[in-house]
Amino acid sequence: MTALFQQLPSVDKLLKTPQGELLVDQFGHTAVVNMIRQLLQLAREQIKETQQLPNYFNDVDHTIAEIRYQLIQQNQVQIKSVHNLTGTVLHTNLGRALWSATAQQAALNAMAGNVALEYDLEIGKRSHRDHYISELLTQLTGAEAACVVNNNAAAVLLMLATFAQGKEVIISRGELIEIGGAFRIPDIMAQAGCTLVEVGTTNRTHLKDYQNAINENTAFLMKVHNSNYQICGFTHSVEEHKLTELGKQFNIPVISDLGSGALIDLTQYGLPKEPTVQEKLAQGVDLISFSGDKLLGGVQAGIIVGKKSLIDQLQAHPLKRVLRCDKVILAGLEATLRLYLQPEKLIETLPTLRLLTQSIAQLNEKAERVKEQLSQHLPEFSLQIEASYAQIGSGSQPLAKIPSVAVTIANQTNGKLTALLQRLKQLPTPIIARMEQDKIWLDIRSLANVDHLLESLQAL
Ligand SMILES: *Cc1c(COP(=O)(O)O)cnc(C)c1O
Repeated sequence: MTALFQQLPSVDKLLKTPQGELLVDQFGHTAVVNMIRQLLQLAREQIKETQQLPNYFNDVDHTIAEIRYQLIQQNQVQIKSVHNLTGTVLHTNLGRALWSATAQQAALNAMAGNVALEYDLEIGKRSHRDHYISELLTQLTGAEAACVVNNNAAAVLLMLATFAQGKEVIISRGELIEIGGAFRIPDIMAQAGCTLVEVGTTNRTHLKDYQNAINENTAFLMKVHNSNYQICGFTHSVEEHKLTELGKQFNIPVISDLGSGALIDLTQYGLPKEPTVQEKLAQGVDLISFSGDKLLGGVQAGIIVGKKSLIDQLQAHPLKRVLRCDKVILAGLEATLRLYLQPEKLIETLPTLRLLTQSIAQLNEKAERVKEQLSQHLPEFSLQIEASYAQIGSGSQPLAKIPSVAVTIANQTNGKLTALLQRLKQLPTPIIARMEQDKIWLDIRSLANVDHLLESLQAL
């Protein structure tokens, strides 16, 4: 063992070889020295465990090649591209909505240079950063004003902290949701310093339940869209227009956390119904919050629209400063919203909508190409094109199944399938699929780009 340890080169010796000097030229002294130390440490551990020297310490060329390889690896961003073949179009773990081409361009512009973020070019004076987006949302939804923060969870927190700190918020027991990533209404209420007043029961809540709970300390009547679950059977909930009537009588605003918050009616494309922002505004809701990267098809943001007097107070609250968005996000969001000014074009311009509205014929055509390519790499597996079901995802309509098409991969030996699923995940651009009924399902509806997938499959 001592002999093995003695075979390990010193840091200095490696640095002084001509190849070592080249490495320092390319990557700088600090990174090269750190990497050599790491590899030496690993080698010492391996000697202790296996009484063997790692191969690449057998000769200097080999060692330098390994250091170079590791230094290049170290530069690879680990948040890397993957192919989403899960069938869940808005997959929170895979980054939700894809950005439209114009949103990408606007974001790039904002990244590379200075932008008129808090500067009104017409009057040449300071303005606030949600200004342009607020004007657009006013035009698109009919709301009086808007406010933009980091995500919808932040939007809910800001509404509660601004108006309900030390006060009570009335909400139905059937709407005390938890959304993935630990967004829980009761916890957000606690963080905002307000008291949750639950009314009604899990399955049935009536207008009188809200009315009976109102007192001088009530800040809001609150509705939360139960986006990720459904209660079936004997149920009742109070519609927004009834709640806003009640709110007016007592001078208490009604707020609504809409979750996905569509700006267009999805049923026109044969998709499941999701409440729209305009619909809720028309019912008189005072403040509505929703996400920018769910059905809106844009960037991660939380958008609040509603009464100007209330929005002005949100804008002035210190938490707004804490939760504000940066120039890149705001540029991407503005560009996304501008697409909605040409609603007939959205199925071409908005990737989320493009994926959701692909016809079965289009999906079949892509599936054929994927199957063809796979068959060249996976002779011992049986491949098939099968009808499948996709989902919108991100909590939208969890029970609604959207017809889709999948390439399925089967094999008698189950171990081979799990190994393949693993291999797919370890490709340079990993493929994320789902395992179901003893088959791997590559669902085509959630796939962003079939040409890129075919390229990636060549590495199999
Ligand atoms: C998704 C969702 C949230 C959280 O939104 P983020 O943008 O992910 O912070 C909050 N409420 C509802 C009803 C949701 O569906």
